[in-house]
Amino acid sequence: MSNIVAIVGRPNVGKSTLYNRLTETRKAIVDDFSGVTRDRHYGVAEWTDRTFTVIDTGGYVARSEDVFEAAIREQVVIAIEEATVIIFMVDVTTGVTDLDDEIATLLRKGNKPVFVVVNKVDNTMLQSDATIFYSLGLGEIYNISSMTGSGTGELLDEVIKHF
Ligand code: GDP
Ligand code: MG
Repeated sequence: MSNIVAIVGRPNVGKSTLYNRLTETRKAIVDDFSGVTRDRHYGVAEWTDRTFTVIDTGGYVARSEDVFEAAIREQVVIAIEEATVIIFMVDVTTGVTDLDDEIATLLRKGNKPVFVVVNKVDNTMLQSDATIFYSLGLGEIYNISSMTGSGTGELLDEVIKHF
């Protein structure tokens, strides 16, 4: 398995919506990877002439807020280990949250390319709101709408340059 794109971020930002969009016409990979697999889904995606694996993280079931945040941190650590490229998804409708900042800190310490993807930018009015995410300190931001697919092509054009 060579090229892996992991999607990380807090719940409800739209990770699974993007994952489904990228993998919808393809078969899911059987979930028999070692390690923490329960909260990870692997699928196959294609863009132009490239085929790659996409990992959706989340669907966390946790008894407490602490356990829940630990689960997210664990997913980020695994992504830093195994992904070729990490998509760090955030939500334009909520702005930057404490958990976003925490995830950004972990990702800055990792040595993997990170794409800050600002989701739910469903219309051009929201594009100026998205600029707040430069404060995460991870460089360029990519505005998309996982719902409509807007911006995903431009994102993937850049992602596959890292393969
Ligand atoms: P996850 O928890 O990060 O996997 O998020 P989901 O993919 O389950 O999406 C959470 C909610 O956000 C759902 O109600 C989605 O329909 C909604 N959502 C996802 N992408 C978009 C988007 O681009 N625009 C809007 N307006 N809503 C979205
Ligand atoms: Mg999900």
